[in-house]
Amino acid sequence: MNDRLSSIIADIALEMAHISDRGTVANYIAPLAAVPDSRFGIAVIELDGTCHVAGDADTPFSIQSISKVFGLTLALGMVGDALWKRVGREPSGSAFNSIVQLEAEQGIPRNPFINAGAIVVSDILLGRHQPGETIGEILRFVRGLAGDESIMIDEEVAHAEQETGFRNMALAQYMRAFGNIHHSVERTLGVYFHQCALALSCRQLALAGRYLMCGGINPETGRTIVSRQRARRINAVMMTCGHYDGSGEFAYRVGLPGKSGVGGGILAVAPGIASIVVWSPGLNARGNSQLGTLALERLVQRTGWSVFDPAEML
Ligand code: GLU
Repeated sequence: MNDRLSSIIADIALEMAHISDRGTVANYIAPLAAVPDSRFGIAVIELDGTCHVAGDADTPFSIQSISKVFGLTLALGMVGDALWKRVGREPSGSAFNSIVQLEAEQGIPRNPFINAGAIVVSDILLGRHQPGETIGEILRFVRGLAGDESIMIDEEVAHAEQETGFRNMALAQYMRAFGNIHHSVERTLGVYFHQCALALSCRQLALAGRYLMCGGINPETGRTIVSRQRARRINAVMMTCGHYDGSGEFAYRVGLPGKSGVGGGILAVAPGIASIVVWSPGLNARGNSQLGTLALERLVQRTGWSVFDPAEML
């Protein structure tokens, strides 16, 4: 598969370069609006560690909501299944920053991958720590997963979100009114915004995602990050909730657990086979990378990878 996979990925990168309808780059976070929509990167890391890359795979980008996967993993490690008393695990069918369901559902967000849910997860991570300590812990965790100490948080992006994140402030205040945010909104959002501002390249992010293709184990160090069952369940939530109100469409077209971010990245997991990251900053109407989704669709068509096709996953 090795050589074939490399040429599949090179072909996909070439095909993406020729597409003119590239979606719309997010502009509600100023530094994100400055990223050219011509960018495209892809990285695929196989179970044996072989890494295939094409395009801008080594350019760091703002991983935004993809960081919610790492936040959830850490928070489950801290409080275990008690987390699910404060956050649901059902698809929302609503936009990433929607407030509509919170009133009817008493401030319990539908899932940890919409903004409201991830803000509760940040509140859990804060625990008894100072925001700076929690942010440091998240950064150390992601660096450890990727085996790369050079990974940074983009302070400019974090600051921009702090300046303009009125909707996230509203979500947090509203949940606080229901007693589901335990710290001040400023402290909780400080953690949330910094986590979203993590900057990783496709290659670094695919390295960080390896534990999800390996039953919870970091294949490089042999260290257990989460139990096998927990890895399976995180993948399940990614499949059902990882693309906001576009999650059904992503499952239909790609058929792999995946998490997108408004920076234009998508982390997808082919369990037992590969950790995959695509990046193209232009988004579709649902806030998911337009070419990133198309590239993944072409990748699974050519490799046969799909959790809905057991013959291909064996
Ligand atoms: N930091 C972004 C926000 O809170 C994350 C959204 C996303 O990536 O979907 O709006």
